Amino acid sequence: MENEVKELLVLREQMSQVNEKIMTQLNQFIEISNQIGKMKDKLGLPHFDPQREFEMLKEVEQKNKGPMPQDMMKRVFKEIFQASVEEMGVETRRKLKVNRLPTSQDLVIDINGIKIGGKNPIIISGPCSVESYEQLSNTAKKLRKMGIRILRGGAFKPRTSPYSFQGLEEEGLKILKTIADELDMIVVTEILNVVDIPLILKYADIIQVGTRNMYNYSLLKELGKIDKPVLLKRGFMATLDEFILAAEYIYLGGNHQIILCERGIRTFETQTRNTLDISSIPIIKKETHLPIVVDISHSVGRKDIIKPIARAALAVGSDGIIFESHYNPSLALSDSSQQLDLDEAEELINYLKKYFIFS
Ligand code: PEP
Ligand code: MN
Repeated sequence: MENEVKELLVLREQMSQVNEKIMTQLNQFIEISNQIGKMKDKLGLPHFDPQREFEMLKEVEQKNKGPMPQDMMKRVFKEIFQASVEEMGVETRRKLKVNRLPTSQDLVIDINGIKIGGKNPIIISGPCSVESYEQLSNTAKKLRKMGIRILRGGAFKPRTSPYSFQGLEEEGLKILKTIADELDMIVVTEILNVVDIPLILKYADIIQVGTRNMYNYSLLKELGKIDKPVLLKRGFMATLDEFILAAEYIYLGGNHQIILCERGIRTFETQTRNTLDISSIPIIKKETHLPIVVDISHSVGRKDIIKPIARAALAVGSDGIIFESHYNPSLALSDSSQQLDLDEAEELINYLKKYFIFS
């Protein structure tokens, strides 16, 4: 018995030594794989190469003489290959232009003295759609009195149904600009199509890319060439990596004026229109130097919980909030149930002012 115990201890010691060797070898493997990743970046090749992985697994199979069964050996190697691809991904992520460098300051976008991304958060509001001069004017005048200087409103509407109101297009843009000029406000409005860029640039101060277009890379590339800020909304099924890479498309084109916008993602939950991913805000802040705002209206799609949601968004460090407002939401041609009337808007702002100082 005593001998067996001694033998067990010896075997355990041997195993520890082998563990150490495996660890050294694995680290060597990762070092080589990172070098390969860098070479692939230079050559513009993808990190994951299924053909190469297939060949390496074949090699493993041919050389393995046991006692580990082939399937098990292949499984272990597959895990190792997977880890190396992930590690290469981490290296690449660190190299994005929108990534925060240890030395980089938060980006502050200044439009006519309105600072987005600065010390204090901002508020963007206005109706879902521009419907008429009277509608927007009645709404915007009150918002301006509440201290809001960024007016939103859709002139090109991405509607789920082709039978729904599609927006007033250029007429809507003209109404937006006229009223914003009258009230010393600036305009943010959505673009749907590359061909509308020159038209929208004539009227808007910030161009919004909606959730449905976050993956529209040809649009993002073109917006990289303009010299007005872009408000890029997170795709409703986009991961944060995909969201950041979408911003990278715009940045790479030379337009560095990007405001990100969290607006909720689609999940299995049905009580809210989308699920507001509150963790995205500190993650985006950590990984990029871009400002991020939260669209609380499209996130939850209801009004009764808007106050705590807005407060939570600002509490986690959002650079601002967007909410939809309408002088008479029951008449609204889109999103009528989530738009705040002007008393509700004022109530929300007064509530938030107890906790935050707005820019
Ligand atoms: C909007 O802001 O009007 C809009 C359509 O939002 P989203 O793209 O987030 O759905
Ligand atoms: Mn809307």
